Amino acid sequence: IFENVPTAPEDVIFALSAAYKADTVPEKVNLGADQILVNDQSLDHEYLPILGLDSFRKASVKLILGADSKAIAEGRAGSAQCISGTGAVYTGARFLSLHYPIKGATCYISKPTWANHRAIFEGVGIPVKEYPYWDPVSRGLDLKGMLATMEEAPNGSIFLMHPCAHNPTGVDPTPDQWKQIADALEAKGHFTFFDTAYQGFASGSLDKDAYSVRYFAERGFEMFIAQSYSKNFGLYSERAGNLTIVARTPEIKKSIESQIAKIQRAVISNPPAYGARVVSTVLNDEKLYSEWEDNLSTMANRIIDMRKAVFEELTRLGTPGTWDHIVSQIGMFSFTGLTTPQVKVMKEKYHIYLTDNGRISMAGLNTGNCKYFASAVDDVVRN
Ligand code: PLP
Repeated sequence: IFENVPTAPEDVIFALSAAYKADTVPEKVNLGADQILVNDQSLDHEYLPILGLDSFRKASVKLILGADSKAIAEGRAGSAQCISGTGAVYTGARFLSLHYPIKGATCYISKPTWANHRAIFEGVGIPVKEYPYWDPVSRGLDLKGMLATMEEAPNGSIFLMHPCAHNPTGVDPTPDQWKQIADALEAKGHFTFFDTAYQGFASGSLDKDAYSVRYFAERGFEMFIAQSYSKNFGLYSERAGNLTIVARTPEIKKSIESQIAKIQRAVISNPPAYGARVVSTVLNDEKLYSEWEDNLSTMANRIIDMRKAVFEELTRLGTPGTWDHIVSQIGMFSFTGLTTPQVKVMKEKYHIYLTDNGRISMAGLNTGNCKYFASAVDDVVRN
Protein backbone atom coordinates (compact mmCIF):
# COMPACT_ATOMS: atom_id res chain seq x y z
CA ILE A 1 0.00 0.00 0.00
CA PHE A 2 2.73 2.42 0.95
CA GLU A 3 5.36 1.69 -1.72
CA ASN A 4 5.03 5.22 -3.13
CA VAL A 5 5.68 7.05 0.15
CA PRO A 6 8.88 9.06 -0.44
CA THR A 7 11.55 9.19 2.28
CA ALA A 8 11.38 12.56 4.06
CA PRO A 9 14.68 14.39 4.59
CA GLU A 10 16.25 14.27 8.06
CA ASP A 11 15.62 17.29 10.34
CA VAL A 12 18.74 19.44 9.97
CA ILE A 13 18.99 20.50 13.63
CA PHE A 14 18.73 16.95 14.94
CA ALA A 15 21.19 15.73 12.28
CA LEU A 16 23.65 18.40 13.43
CA SER A 17 23.46 17.19 17.06
CA ALA A 18 24.03 13.61 15.90
CA ALA A 19 27.09 14.64 13.83
CA TYR A 20 28.52 16.49 16.84
CA LYS A 21 28.03 13.48 19.12
CA ALA A 22 29.71 11.17 16.59
CA ASP A 23 32.75 13.46 16.15
CA THR A 24 35.72 12.22 18.20
CA VAL A 25 38.02 15.26 17.84
CA PRO A 26 38.59 16.76 21.34
CA GLU A 27 38.49 20.40 20.15
CA LYS A 28 34.99 19.96 18.76
CA VAL A 29 32.53 22.76 19.59
CA ASN A 30 28.77 22.39 19.56
CA LEU A 31 27.13 25.69 18.68
CA GLY A 32 23.86 23.94 17.97
CA ALA A 33 22.74 22.42 21.28
CA ASP A 34 22.60 23.16 24.99
CA GLN A 35 22.91 21.29 28.25
CA ILE A 36 19.99 19.68 30.02
CA LEU A 37 19.30 20.56 33.67
CA VAL A 38 18.58 17.69 35.96
CA ASN A 39 15.97 18.08 38.65
CA ASP A 40 14.94 15.39 41.06
CA GLN A 41 11.25 15.28 41.89
CA SER A 42 9.09 12.44 43.05
CA LEU A 43 6.65 11.28 40.42
CA ASP A 44 3.28 9.66 40.39
CA HIS A 45 1.90 8.28 37.17
CA GLU A 46 -1.72 9.35 37.13
CA TYR A 47 -3.14 11.10 34.08
CA LEU A 48 -3.22 14.88 34.16
CA PRO A 49 -6.45 16.59 33.06
CA ILE A 50 -6.79 17.07 29.26
CA LEU A 51 -5.75 20.72 29.49
CA GLY A 52 -2.92 19.90 31.89
CA LEU A 53 -1.75 20.74 35.40
CA ASP A 54 -3.81 23.59 36.76
CA SER A 55 -1.06 25.20 38.89
CA PHE A 56 1.31 25.06 35.89
CA ARG A 57 -1.23 26.63 33.53
CA LYS A 58 -2.10 29.49 35.87
CA ALA A 59 1.55 30.22 36.64
CA SER A 60 2.45 30.14 32.94
CA VAL A 61 -0.25 32.67 32.07
CA LYS A 62 0.95 34.93 34.89
CA LEU A 63 4.58 34.54 33.81
CA ILE A 64 3.91 35.84 30.31
CA LEU A 65 1.11 38.36 30.94
CA GLY A 66 2.38 39.66 34.30
CA ALA A 67 0.86 39.49 37.78
CA ASP A 68 -1.05 42.74 37.24
CA SER A 69 -2.49 41.76 33.86
CA LYS A 70 -5.92 43.19 33.06
CA ALA A 71 -6.75 40.14 30.93
CA ILE A 72 -6.15 37.84 33.92
CA ALA A 73 -8.12 40.08 36.32
CA GLU A 74 -11.02 40.16 33.87
CA GLY A 75 -11.02 36.37 33.46
CA ARG A 76 -10.21 36.59 29.72
CA ALA A 77 -6.87 34.74 29.87
CA GLY A 78 -6.99 31.01 29.36
CA SER A 79 -4.48 28.26 28.72
CA ALA A 80 -3.68 24.72 27.76
CA GLN A 81 -0.60 22.77 28.79
CA CYS A 82 0.93 21.45 25.58
CA ILE A 83 3.79 19.30 24.32
CA SER A 84 6.30 22.10 24.89
CA GLY A 85 6.58 25.10 22.56
CA THR A 86 6.13 22.99 19.44
CA GLY A 87 2.91 21.50 20.79
CA ALA A 88 1.64 24.93 21.84
CA VAL A 89 2.21 26.33 18.34
CA TYR A 90 0.61 23.23 16.83
CA THR A 91 -2.42 23.34 19.13
CA GLY A 92 -3.02 27.03 18.45
CA ALA A 93 -2.57 26.49 14.72
CA ARG A 94 -4.91 23.50 14.69
CA PHE A 95 -7.54 25.51 16.55
CA LEU A 96 -7.21 28.33 14.00
CA SER A 97 -7.49 25.87 11.11
CA LEU A 98 -10.87 24.77 12.49
CA HIS A 99 -12.32 27.90 14.05
CA TYR A 100 -10.70 31.01 12.59
CA PRO A 101 -13.61 32.92 11.08
CA ILE A 102 -11.77 33.98 7.91
CA LYS A 103 -11.55 30.83 5.83
CA GLY A 104 -8.35 30.46 3.84
CA ALA A 105 -6.56 33.15 5.90
CA THR A 106 -2.79 33.09 5.46
CA CYS A 107 -0.31 32.86 8.31
CA TYR A 108 2.66 35.20 7.83
CA ILE A 109 5.94 34.10 9.37
CA SER A 110 9.20 36.05 9.61
CA LYS A 111 11.90 35.58 6.98
CA PRO A 112 13.81 33.77 8.36
CA THR A 113 12.23 31.91 11.26
CA TRP A 114 12.36 28.63 13.13
CA ALA A 115 11.76 26.06 10.38
CA ASN A 116 8.95 24.33 12.25
CA HIS A 117 6.67 27.36 11.96
CA ARG A 118 6.02 26.76 8.29
CA ALA A 119 5.80 23.00 8.76
CA ILE A 120 3.26 23.28 11.58
CA PHE A 121 0.94 25.79 9.89
CA GLU A 122 1.08 24.10 6.49
CA GLY A 123 0.57 20.80 8.28
CA VAL A 124 -2.82 21.95 9.57
CA GLY A 125 -3.79 23.34 6.17
CA ILE A 126 -3.16 27.04 6.76
CA PRO A 127 -1.34 28.72 3.84
CA VAL A 128 1.97 30.30 4.85
CA LYS A 129 3.74 33.39 3.50
CA GLU A 130 6.74 35.30 4.79
CA TYR A 131 7.18 38.88 5.96
CA PRO A 132 10.63 40.49 5.67
CA TYR A 133 12.52 40.50 8.98
CA TRP A 134 16.30 40.22 8.59
CA ASP A 135 17.99 42.90 6.58
CA PRO A 136 21.27 41.37 5.36
CA VAL A 137 22.73 44.79 4.58
CA SER A 138 22.23 46.42 7.99
CA ARG A 139 22.32 42.99 9.68
CA GLY A 140 19.34 44.23 11.67
CA LEU A 141 15.54 44.44 11.50
CA ASP A 142 13.82 45.22 8.20
CA LEU A 143 11.01 47.17 9.91
CA LYS A 144 9.93 48.90 6.72
CA GLY A 145 9.50 45.62 4.88
CA MET A 146 7.72 44.07 7.83
CA LEU A 147 5.22 46.93 8.15
CA ALA A 148 4.63 47.07 4.40
CA THR A 149 3.70 43.38 4.35
CA MET A 150 1.32 43.90 7.28
CA GLU A 151 -0.33 46.74 5.39
CA GLU A 152 -0.59 44.77 2.15
CA ALA A 153 -1.81 41.48 3.67
CA PRO A 154 -5.58 40.82 3.39
CA ASN A 155 -7.54 41.97 6.47
CA GLY A 156 -7.60 39.40 9.24
CA SER A 157 -4.42 37.56 8.27
CA ILE A 158 -2.49 35.72 10.97
CA PHE A 159 0.93 37.06 12.01
CA LEU A 160 3.34 34.82 13.88
CA MET A 161 5.99 36.74 15.81
CA HIS A 162 8.78 36.07 18.32
CA PRO A 163 8.36 38.28 21.43
CA CYS A 164 12.09 38.22 22.24
CA ALA A 165 15.40 36.63 21.26
CA HIS A 166 14.28 35.99 17.68
CA ASN A 167 15.36 32.59 16.35
CA PRO A 168 17.54 32.51 14.28
CA THR A 169 18.60 36.15 13.92
CA GLY A 170 18.86 37.39 17.53
CA VAL A 171 17.31 40.67 16.29
CA ASP A 172 14.33 42.06 18.26
CA PRO A 173 12.15 45.14 17.67
CA THR A 174 12.56 48.03 20.12
CA PRO A 175 9.52 49.23 22.17
CA ASP A 176 8.91 51.99 19.61
CA GLN A 177 9.07 49.47 16.77
CA TRP A 178 6.63 47.17 18.63
CA LYS A 179 4.25 50.12 18.79
CA GLN A 180 4.46 50.56 15.02
CA ILE A 181 3.94 46.82 14.52
CA ALA A 182 0.90 46.83 16.84
CA ASP A 183 -0.55 49.84 14.99
CA ALA A 184 -0.15 48.06 11.64
CA LEU A 185 -1.71 44.82 12.90
CA GLU A 186 -4.59 46.64 14.58
CA ALA A 187 -5.36 48.76 11.52
CA LYS A 188 -5.84 45.61 9.41
CA GLY A 189 -7.52 43.44 12.04
CA HIS A 190 -4.75 40.85 11.83
CA PHE A 191 -4.53 38.09 14.43
CA THR A 192 -1.40 37.98 16.60
CA PHE A 193 0.22 34.65 17.40
CA PHE A 194 3.31 35.02 19.59
CA ASP A 195 5.78 32.18 20.00
CA THR A 196 8.10 32.63 22.97
CA ALA A 197 10.77 30.02 23.53
CA TYR A 198 13.37 32.21 25.26
CA GLN A 199 11.70 34.28 28.01
CA GLY A 200 14.48 35.28 30.43
CA PHE A 201 17.25 34.57 27.94
CA ALA A 202 17.27 37.89 26.12
CA SER A 203 17.75 40.42 28.92
CA GLY A 204 17.95 38.09 31.90
CA SER A 205 14.71 39.62 33.20
CA LEU A 206 11.55 37.59 32.75
CA ASP A 207 9.41 40.74 32.87
CA LYS A 208 11.49 42.69 30.35
CA ASP A 209 11.45 39.77 27.92
CA ALA A 210 7.64 39.71 28.08
CA TYR A 211 7.44 43.39 27.13
CA SER A 212 5.93 42.92 23.66
CA VAL A 213 3.28 40.44 24.78
CA ARG A 214 2.22 42.58 27.74
CA TYR A 215 2.14 45.68 25.56
CA PHE A 216 -0.16 43.94 23.06
CA ALA A 217 -2.36 42.63 25.91
CA GLU A 218 -2.55 46.11 27.43
CA ARG A 219 -3.77 47.44 24.08
CA GLY A 220 -6.56 44.88 24.09
CA PHE A 221 -5.31 42.47 21.39
CA GLU A 222 -6.90 39.03 21.26
CA MET A 223 -4.03 36.64 20.77
CA PHE A 224 -2.35 33.29 21.34
CA ILE A 225 1.04 32.92 23.00
CA ALA A 226 2.96 29.66 22.72
CA GLN A 227 5.40 29.25 25.62
CA SER A 228 8.28 26.79 25.85
CA TYR A 229 10.22 25.83 28.99
CA SER A 230 12.80 23.83 27.05
CA LYS A 231 15.48 26.53 27.17
CA ASN A 232 14.75 28.63 30.24
CA PHE A 233 14.32 25.51 32.41
CA GLY A 234 16.61 23.18 30.47
CA LEU A 235 13.67 20.78 30.25
CA TYR A 236 14.11 19.90 26.57
CA SER A 237 13.05 16.27 26.69
CA GLU A 238 10.26 16.76 29.22
CA ARG A 239 8.10 18.71 26.74
CA ALA A 240 6.81 21.37 29.12
CA GLY A 241 4.94 24.14 27.35
CA ASN A 242 1.79 26.18 27.46
CA LEU A 243 -0.58 27.93 25.10
CA THR A 244 -1.85 31.16 26.64
CA ILE A 245 -5.10 32.47 25.17
CA VAL A 246 -6.13 36.11 25.51
CA ALA A 247 -9.78 36.40 24.48
CA ARG A 248 -12.20 39.29 24.32
CA THR A 249 -14.52 37.95 27.05
CA PRO A 250 -14.43 35.19 29.73
CA GLU A 251 -17.16 33.35 27.81
CA ILE A 252 -15.14 33.33 24.58
CA LYS A 253 -12.10 32.15 26.53
CA LYS A 254 -14.12 29.24 27.89
CA SER A 255 -15.34 28.24 24.42
CA ILE A 256 -11.81 28.38 23.01
CA GLU A 257 -10.50 26.24 25.88
CA SER A 258 -13.28 23.71 25.34
CA GLN A 259 -12.41 23.38 21.65
CA ILE A 260 -8.72 23.12 22.45
CA ALA A 261 -9.50 20.35 24.94
CA LYS A 262 -11.31 18.52 22.12
CA ILE A 263 -8.28 18.88 19.84
CA GLN A 264 -5.85 17.85 22.58
CA ARG A 265 -7.91 14.76 23.52
CA ALA A 266 -7.67 13.44 19.97
CA VAL A 267 -3.94 14.12 19.55
CA ILE A 268 -2.24 13.43 22.91
CA SER A 269 -5.21 12.79 25.24
CA ASN A 270 -3.42 14.59 28.08
CA PRO A 271 0.01 16.19 28.54
CA PRO A 272 3.01 14.78 30.46
CA ALA A 273 3.38 15.58 34.16
CA TYR A 274 7.05 15.67 35.12
CA GLY A 275 8.24 18.85 33.41
CA ALA A 276 5.04 20.70 34.31
CA ARG A 277 5.54 19.76 37.98
CA VAL A 278 9.12 21.06 37.96
CA VAL A 279 8.03 24.34 36.36
CA SER A 280 5.00 24.73 38.60
CA THR A 281 7.08 24.13 41.74
CA VAL A 282 9.50 26.90 40.78
CA LEU A 283 6.95 29.40 39.46
CA ASN A 284 4.75 29.06 42.53
CA ASP A 285 7.52 29.46 45.11
CA GLU A 286 8.84 32.96 45.66
CA LYS A 287 12.33 31.86 46.71
CA LEU A 288 12.77 29.33 43.92
CA TYR A 289 11.40 31.81 41.40
CA SER A 290 13.92 34.44 42.37
CA GLU A 291 16.74 31.87 42.33
CA TRP A 292 15.62 30.79 38.85
CA GLU A 293 15.58 34.38 37.62
CA ASP A 294 19.09 34.87 39.04
CA ASN A 295 20.21 31.79 37.13
CA LEU A 296 18.67 33.12 33.93
CA SER A 297 20.34 36.44 34.45
CA THR A 298 23.70 34.68 34.92
CA MET A 299 23.08 32.77 31.68
CA ALA A 300 22.01 35.89 29.78
CA ASN A 301 25.02 37.85 31.02
CA ARG A 302 27.37 35.00 30.22
CA ILE A 303 26.03 35.03 26.68
CA ILE A 304 26.51 38.80 26.50
CA ASP A 305 30.12 38.35 27.74
CA MET A 306 30.76 35.69 25.09
CA ARG A 307 29.40 38.01 22.41
CA LYS A 308 31.86 40.67 23.57
CA ALA A 309 34.75 38.20 23.71
CA VAL A 310 34.10 36.95 20.16
CA PHE A 311 33.70 40.51 18.88
CA GLU A 312 36.96 41.65 20.55
CA GLU A 313 38.87 38.68 19.20
CA LEU A 314 37.59 39.23 15.63
CA THR A 315 38.52 42.92 15.95
CA ARG A 316 41.99 41.99 17.29
CA LEU A 317 42.52 39.58 14.37
CA GLY A 318 41.34 42.25 11.92
CA THR A 319 38.86 39.78 10.42
CA PRO A 320 37.46 41.29 7.20
CA GLY A 321 33.84 42.54 7.41
CA THR A 322 31.77 44.20 10.13
CA TRP A 323 31.02 42.25 13.31
CA ASP A 324 29.00 44.74 15.39
CA HIS A 325 25.92 42.56 14.94
CA ILE A 326 27.52 39.90 17.15
CA VAL A 327 27.21 42.28 20.13
CA SER A 328 23.99 44.02 19.11
CA GLN A 329 22.01 40.81 18.63
CA ILE A 330 20.05 39.44 21.59
CA GLY A 331 19.57 36.06 23.22
CA MET A 332 20.80 32.60 22.63
CA PHE A 333 21.29 32.79 18.87
CA SER A 334 23.51 34.81 16.65
CA PHE A 335 23.22 35.07 12.90
CA THR A 336 26.91 35.29 12.07
CA GLY A 337 26.56 36.13 8.41
CA LEU A 338 28.74 33.11 7.51
CA THR A 339 27.69 31.52 4.23
CA THR A 340 26.77 27.86 3.75
CA PRO A 341 30.15 27.01 2.10
CA GLN A 342 31.95 28.76 5.00
CA VAL A 343 29.87 26.76 7.50
CA LYS A 344 30.96 23.59 5.70
CA VAL A 345 34.62 24.49 6.29
CA MET A 346 33.88 25.33 9.94
CA LYS A 347 32.55 21.80 10.37
CA GLU A 348 35.05 19.88 8.28
CA LYS A 349 38.27 21.72 9.12
CA TYR A 350 37.55 23.00 12.64
CA HIS A 351 34.89 20.59 13.98
CA ILE A 352 32.68 23.54 14.85
CA TYR A 353 29.02 22.70 14.37
CA LEU A 354 26.55 25.38 13.38
CA THR A 355 23.51 25.43 11.14
CA ASP A 356 23.97 25.96 7.40
CA ASN A 357 22.40 29.44 7.54
CA GLY A 358 25.30 30.60 9.76
CA ARG A 359 23.34 30.57 13.02
CA ILE A 360 25.25 29.77 16.20
CA SER A 361 23.94 29.05 19.68
CA MET A 362 25.88 31.40 21.95
CA ALA A 363 25.31 28.94 24.81
CA GLY A 364 27.90 26.63 23.20
CA LEU A 365 30.69 29.20 23.57
CA ASN A 366 32.79 29.57 26.71
CA THR A 367 36.05 31.24 27.77
CA GLY A 368 37.89 28.06 26.72
CA ASN A 369 36.67 27.90 23.12
CA CYS A 370 35.67 31.40 21.98
CA LYS A 371 39.18 32.26 20.71
CA TYR A 372 39.28 28.97 18.81
CA PHE A 373 35.89 29.85 17.30
CA ALA A 374 36.98 33.40 16.36
CA SER A 375 40.19 32.17 14.72
CA ALA A 376 38.20 29.64 12.68
CA VAL A 377 35.80 32.40 11.56
CA ASP A 378 38.80 34.54 10.66
CA ASP A 379 40.22 31.74 8.52
CA VAL A 380 37.00 30.88 6.68
CA VAL A 381 36.23 34.53 5.97
CA ARG A 382 39.71 35.13 4.53
CA ASN A 383 39.83 32.00 2.37
N1 PLP B 1 9.64 28.29 18.96
C1 PLP B 1 10.86 28.70 18.67
C2 PLP B 1 11.03 30.02 18.03
C3 PLP B 1 11.97 27.90 18.96
O1 PLP B 1 13.18 28.35 18.67
C4 PLP B 1 11.77 26.64 19.56
C5 PLP B 1 12.91 25.76 19.82
O2 PLP B 1 13.94 25.82 19.23
C6 PLP B 1 10.46 26.28 19.88
C7 PLP B 1 9.42 27.11 19.56
C8 PLP B 1 10.01 25.04 20.54
O3 PLP B 1 10.81 24.25 21.24
P1 PLP B 1 10.24 23.12 22.16
O4 PLP B 1 9.16 22.40 21.43
O5 PLP B 1 11.41 22.28 22.46
O6 PLP B 1 9.70 23.79 23.37
